[in-house]
Amino acid sequence: MRDARYDILFEPIRIGPLTAKNRFYQVPHCNGGGYRDPSAAAEMRKIKAEGGWGVVFTEQCEMHHTSEITPFIELRLWDDADIPSLNRMSDAMKEHGALAGIQLAYSGVNGPNFYTREVPRAVSAQPIRTFTNDPVQARALSKSEIGDLRRWFVTAAKRSKAAGFDLLCLYGAHGFGIFQHFLSRATNHRTDEYGGSLENRSRFAREVVADIRDAVGDTMGLTMRVSLDETIGTLGFSNAEMREFIEMNRNLPDLWDLAHGTWEDCSGPSRFKEEAAQEVLVKGIKEMTDKPVVGVGRFTSPDVMVKMIRSGTLDLIGCARPSIADPFLPRKIEEGRIEDIRECIGCNICITGDMTMSLSRCTQNPTFMEEWRKGWHPERMNDKGESSNVLIVGSGPAGLEAAWALCRRGYDVAVAEARDVLGGRVARERILPGLSAWGRVQDYREYQLSQRANVEIYRESPLDAESILEFGFENIAIATGSHWRADGVARQHVTPIPIAKGAQVFTPDDLMEGRVPGGKVVLYDDDHYYMGGVCAELLARSGAEVTLITPSAYVSDWTNNTLEQATIHARLAELGVRIVLNRGVTEVGADHVMSDCTYTGALERYDAEAVVMVASRQSEDALYHALMARQAEWADAGIRSVKLFGDAEAPGPIAWATYAGHRYARELDVPELGDALPFRREITQLAP
Ligand code: ADP
Ligand code: SF4
Repeated sequence: MRDARYDILFEPIRIGPLTAKNRFYQVPHCNGGGYRDPSAAAEMRKIKAEGGWGVVFTEQCEMHHTSEITPFIELRLWDDADIPSLNRMSDAMKEHGALAGIQLAYSGVNGPNFYTREVPRAVSAQPIRTFTNDPVQARALSKSEIGDLRRWFVTAAKRSKAAGFDLLCLYGAHGFGIFQHFLSRATNHRTDEYGGSLENRSRFAREVVADIRDAVGDTMGLTMRVSLDETIGTLGFSNAEMREFIEMNRNLPDLWDLAHGTWEDCSGPSRFKEEAAQEVLVKGIKEMTDKPVVGVGRFTSPDVMVKMIRSGTLDLIGCARPSIADPFLPRKIEEGRIEDIRECIGCNICITGDMTMSLSRCTQNPTFMEEWRKGWHPERMNDKGESSNVLIVGSGPAGLEAAWALCRRGYDVAVAEARDVLGGRVARERILPGLSAWGRVQDYREYQLSQRANVEIYRESPLDAESILEFGFENIAIATGSHWRADGVARQHVTPIPIAKGAQVFTPDDLMEGRVPGGKVVLYDDDHYYMGGVCAELLARSGAEVTLITPSAYVSDWTNNTLEQATIHARLAELGVRIVLNRGVTEVGADHVMSDCTYTGALERYDAEAVVMVASRQSEDALYHALMARQAEWADAGIRSVKLFGDAEAPGPIAWATYAGHRYARELDVPELGDALPFRREITQLAP
């Protein structure tokens, strides 16, 4: 079944006293659940094990109450009371033969301790380094407290063992985790034997590893996640110094887990980072140690994975996002089903769950974090209900996902698309600068549908209510999408902006259709996600003189949650885009716009031969309402249900559309829940 050239990926690998069944290593990753949603997180990890991963890790687990990075979304191992929920997780991970790993984190200078209210303790006294510049400083650990911390790590290791885990990961990458803070001169200013030389800065790591080995080393594999390059020059833990560290401590842990120095670098979106982007930073490290090396790089191609191993770069293929987008990635390679792999698109929507303290979503895998809450399995659908066919109008991410999920339930599915290409917004957005990988949303589903006998696709088929009533389908799914407004209505303006006659106003839809203005262009961004920044990039690259005006304090503000805001700003600045923050647009003239200061209202004039409005989107729901108005005719036409979903119901990111399409497919012919909660949840137990 499996192509022999991928055999190497399925070789067992020893990690300390244990053996992973293959080289597929799901590195620790967040999911927005943490201790608050233990069963949801456990079921998600179980499905990865079922999907064939040889190693499955938890997310960050706070190992002591004196250090906590966020109040809600990580795991905790503060005392024995946390063991049962972690045990549920490890049992789930091991059910299908994976090694169960737990990532122990002491956040030090990254932990503001908002919940615990403990004074943060760090390697050196410093302001807390978080995404939100919290107004809290950490004090330096005293020598005796370093001793305490060593003891706490041992206690946490023993508790991890009691909770059923096989592997421990000591966290010191991405700028997070006290091991990196000891290693880096940016966070270690100590003058005692824990500071100064690299030998001294690595002392804590050596001590903790020795302590833990004594305690549990005969039965647990000990991994260390270290930063490949802190990317702040020679002051930080550079790639060169990291290599020195590994050379000096060649066989310290049972496995080296290598990840980039900041989370933004490590989990860079596809807009800015290619697959295997960390290769140059990792190459050659394997030769410095006898222990296996795992690295990440948004690996979705088995050929690239094999190359990483054959070239002697890595021993194990580390994946976070690719394992979210397709938990069954290893199984699909094993079964020779490469074309069935649902590749991560690198949009980083999954990370926004963590950043917004909500359960993570995945654009490609709408079942992510719904495995337990809703009982959704990424590879298995619920049984077909009593009706037999569905007409889906619109082939954007919502329509395509609905079609793919419905045909697997056994329905006969027809998809009607007005345009000559499928994909809806994805077909248009994938041609924007940096967004080509997003096309995988369309390509994956289009290919899968083409393999199915029970799916018919009709391109160039704009439908109206009349024709739908004539067709005789039982269920009508309206996924007709949305379009960008040209009148500026969004957040700053709830009524249209005054626009002078003769003013040249464009929307992102115009740009995506190839109508790209030149000369002096003002782009007004009151949407705040990626579209404004991407359109500014497109305009600048095609030669326009671009001024981006936004009422926000940041360009593409919401992309702070996808870890790309700073890179977007830098890219636009490099391209010569003039960035005007904290200002709105009050009026569009024929050759200028008037702009108001968000705070004072002070007006300024900006020359503009054309204006691009990146404001909000309007649902294409006219067809739905036309059908609803003719409900009396449904029975004669054989129609049992009409449902509106995706951007046509309410515009949102692509992940919202695939989720909506999937949900529609799951719930068709299923009795409605009425007022009941549509998902399972766990409730904090009341103390007696
Ligand atoms: P979503 O994100 O909700 O999937 P999109 O905007 O990506 O929405 O996709 C909607 C698709 O529906 C577009 O490709 C559009 O051409 C198509 N469409 C809209 N109205 C009709 C219609 N009346 N008949 C057929 N296709 C339609
Ligand atoms: Fe990949 Fe986007 Fe899914 Fe994250 S949300 S796993 S980046 S497809």
